Amino acid sequence: MTAAELAALDAEISACRACPRLVAWREEVAAVKRAAFRDQDYWGRPVPGFGAADARILVLGLAPAAHGGNRTGRIFTGDRSGDVLFAAMHRTGLANQPTSVSRDDGLALRHVRIAAAVRCAPPDNKPTPVERDTCAPWLHREVTLLKPTLRVVIALGAFAWSAWWPTLSTVYGVRPPVPRPAFGHGALFRMGETGGGAVPALLGSYHVSQQNTFTGRLTPAMLDDVLRHARELAGLD
Ligand code: SF4
Repeated sequence: MTAAELAALDAEISACRACPRLVAWREEVAAVKRAAFRDQDYWGRPVPGFGAADARILVLGLAPAAHGGNRTGRIFTGDRSGDVLFAAMHRTGLANQPTSVSRDDGLALRHVRIAAAVRCAPPDNKPTPVERDTCAPWLHREVTLLKPTLRVVIALGAFAWSAWWPTLSTVYGVRPPVPRPAFGHGALFRMGETGGGAVPALLGSYHVSQQNTFTGRLTPAMLDDVLRHARELAGLD
């Protein structure tokens, strides 16, 4: 896999218009804007993945934020969730700087790629099951390109956790477990002895949303622990 192939996929994703409700919403938000950002040109399109082409760790989120990724064009960039995530990635040696504010701010990730299960900002941060399934092939194609190096997937929240399972059959050719392991902060699933040697480990983390970080449900220390665990599972430490 080359970075060029990943860039070509990113360009294809950015032009997707498969979900009428999400296309309408992302474009309306981009046109109306939030007052604080009224002088900016919103991205207003699907937000592709970001990070290393030879990533060992994939951080999988839910969907771009209306005034974050949908504004800046980079996932988790320009919103409070991203502030928490990138600060933790910097502390754990996975990013060269602790902030992510725009696509040209110099941020570079080490060993990590970040992507969303649904690539367009949804109303109320809630994609429908149909939208999740419609967007899934983009994730599968991205994981296919990352497959040679990918060792760990961090699911931020239950939505990303559930969005991962179909990837096992479509990309890795193995049957997802039945019943599905439950999501939890720190939950770990590995195919292990069932024959999925190449299948990345799946690690759960509470989502970095303000709902979790403002209430203390997810603390910086808890997030650091997950990222350190991912480093270990990925063979980086
Ligand atoms: S959510 Fe995914 S499938 Fe739907 S329009 Fe956006 S990029 Fe396309």
